[in-house]
Amino acid sequence: MTVRYSYRAGLMAAILLLGGAGQTALLAGQAAGAARVSGEQEGVLQVKDGKLPAGPAEIRQGGAVVGFARVDPEGVARRVLGQAPRDAEIHPIAAQEPRVLVMAPPDHPAAKEAGVLFGAGMSLAPDAPASEADAAILIQLPEGNANIPKAGTLFLSLDAYAALRGLEVRSHQVTKRPALRITVVAPWMPGLEVGHEISWFGKEGDRFTQRSLPAEGLPDGARVLAVSTLDQGPILLEETLPDGRRLVALDLESPNGRAGYDPGSKLKWFFITRALDTKAFYGRHVPRRLTVDEYTQRLRELAARHTGRATLTEIGKGSAGDPILSLSLGKKDAPRFVFTGVLHGGEVMNAYGLLRLAEVLLENPREDARISRLLGEYGVEIIPLLNAWGYAHGKQTNSRDCDLNRNFDYLWEKFQGDSGWRAAIKPEVLRGPAPFSEGETQAVRDRLLAGKVAGYIDFHQHGMEHGHMLMLPHRPVQRQPEVLRLLHEVLNARLAGRALYGSDQRLQLVLSGTGSPRPFAQNWAASRGITACTFELPGGVEESLILTDMVVQEALHFMWILAATSPGS
Ligand SMILES: [Zn+2]
Repeated sequence: MTVRYSYRAGLMAAILLLGGAGQTALLAGQAAGAARVSGEQEGVLQVKDGKLPAGPAEIRQGGAVVGFARVDPEGVARRVLGQAPRDAEIHPIAAQEPRVLVMAPPDHPAAKEAGVLFGAGMSLAPDAPASEADAAILIQLPEGNANIPKAGTLFLSLDAYAALRGLEVRSHQVTKRPALRITVVAPWMPGLEVGHEISWFGKEGDRFTQRSLPAEGLPDGARVLAVSTLDQGPILLEETLPDGRRLVALDLESPNGRAGYDPGSKLKWFFITRALDTKAFYGRHVPRRLTVDEYTQRLRELAARHTGRATLTEIGKGSAGDPILSLSLGKKDAPRFVFTGVLHGGEVMNAYGLLRLAEVLLENPREDARISRLLGEYGVEIIPLLNAWGYAHGKQTNSRDCDLNRNFDYLWEKFQGDSGWRAAIKPEVLRGPAPFSEGETQAVRDRLLAGKVAGYIDFHQHGMEHGHMLMLPHRPVQRQPEVLRLLHEVLNARLAGRALYGSDQRLQLVLSGTGSPRPFAQNWAASRGITACTFELPGGVEESLILTDMVVQEALHFMWILAATSPGS
């Protein structure tokens, strides 16, 4: 009875997490299927064939994004951008929240984190109707295993799995950071390869802790997906139960730090959100920092795999004489989107994210009609490693101590210096001897002046806990700020529920809307009439699976939104 009682206490906690006692409908995941436009009156859309959840929504026709709507809490949809032709589909941006049942002792950190991650789709067992759940996370087995919920996918912590299968969990305490190593890549684990290692540990005092199962004694049919780097014992495994349900056992106990934030715990929820497949995850794990040569080789291989569809060109030379490469794809002689990464040499994740963007555009792994439609009408130019010297030397500046993002011709002459690491360099050195004095900025300028540019993003990486930011250009030169504000709203809806930052909050993209009067790339581009913005990524290489996905999502939604503002160009 005590277990039962504690579950009830947990249920109360869940209701509190859900935002108040008034919200008692548990497992009330919203049906988020596509609806259709049946008419429009003064911007309000008449909708048939479905009910729309609150939030931003895409209007699609023939696979292309043609407009955007905003749905209010009463379910009223208003067109906010582009067109809403009769019979066009309306797709909510936020994927349907999975209805996740969590069975855990009250106050267990994993239960709290699941509440934040899955929001209104989560409840605690066993009082909730288990048969309606998409998945269940069992930190603790219910009394008598017969009560295991009938959810489609069962996630069991190692402790719960060991109890179910009569195994003994082994616990390690070591002085060096351990990891898990991928041994089999299940279909729901794209972005990972056999042999990849992911930091996976907790801390007790000054020791690192990790748990694993014994390699022997597993039931027939159990497939080991990842093992401990300490003893090769299973940390992640999968079974298909006789009734067809999937069982995934994983070590949720070891990573005891803040999910998404502390080393060893950053990807704690990755396998669960990925196995639920509620979001298109385009991320790719980068196990270590690539050298410039290795990175360039990957770009060349990608272009070679798609000869005729992708062209790699040298568009200039950096301050140290290194070639600046640009990858072009999509429709030729059409308006094109331009993306730059690693203007600051230390902000390396954008190089990997933009490489992944190129792969996604060329290979369209999820057969997304929006991608093929976009590339049929627009070109895309990716300059992923602008400051190769800085990347190679771990420096933000180029080899001449110039901060390239102070060298563009926008209020350049007014630049008086900056705080932080920039304070150590004289302003006249930091901004360079003249606007566009550097090979890197000249290359960007020349590409942005060539042909018609449909939009430009300069990708950066702030790297701090709350550093995930969409920054608009300096206000006087902003182009289409209302469209970029919609992009911000869309991305927060799109990226919700896939990662945590600091255990108590979903990853949020912050909008910085006023901009700054500095010689930024985006300010100069905007002053030339280009719709431009800057993204700052949080985190580091350990979260490459999440961050590379963000770059892809940010670029894709930027292009879809801008394409919808000028259809048929
Ligand atoms: Zn930067």
